[in-house]
Amino acid sequence: MKLTKKRKQQIRRWLVLALAAGVILLFVLSLLFTVFRFVYHRYVKPESSLDFTMITVTAPRIEEQILTPNKNSRPEIVLEEVKGVVVHYTANPGTDAEANRNYFESRKDEADAAENKVSSHFIIGLDGHIIQCIPLDEVAYASNSRNKDTISIECCHPDKKGKFTKKTYDSLIRLLAWLCDTYELEEDQIIRHYDVTGKECPLYYVKHPDAWETLRKDVRTSLLEGMDDQKAIQRN
Ligand SMILES: [Zn+2]
Repeated sequence: MKLTKKRKQQIRRWLVLALAAGVILLFVLSLLFTVFRFVYHRYVKPESSLDFTMITVTAPRIEEQILTPNKNSRPEIVLEEVKGVVVHYTANPGTDAEANRNYFESRKDEADAAENKVSSHFIIGLDGHIIQCIPLDEVAYASNSRNKDTISIECCHPDKKGKFTKKTYDSLIRLLAWLCDTYELEEDQIIRHYDVTGKECPLYYVKHPDAWETLRKDVRTSLLEGMDDQKAIQRN
């Protein structure tokens, strides 16, 4: 079929219109994308990575009661790298830091068996008192597959529910902030024993995920308080 001249002109006009519409659509889409990106980074994702060179968190008061080297609780295995901190609860209501530390120490007299292998870098008492049991460059037997690349903290608790006292909680936040600063860890690298094995530890913070998120946020706030300059938050 031979196209008339008029028909040809009509097709050309449509093509030009379609091209113009395509260009306008692309322009509008890229504009929308730019606006979306701005809004997302400015308002939706305000929490971005921290610049640890600008953060200084002083260490909380820590009492060193390092365990005697032994196969069960202080095997003197080198902790090559620290990629996280694992929070635990003692699962022994009402007991204090000293008693739990002595329990770890007593493992040295037991048989060299898996069920006797238990320890932790730190224990925080009901009164917020922090005891260190294992040097930070050695592995503790607390967090199963993550023993090899994490620091562990056991927290005492007054009752079966496993919620930490205000004093234990405050010391935990300070200790976590200091460890995060030391090893340049973000708050999502603070994990529960539960996140490693599915074990209900620390119980209250497994049953109440919102309380766990608040705890992580409190560490971040504590880190930001130790910041020299607002620039420590990299907007990216
Ligand atoms: Zn645990």
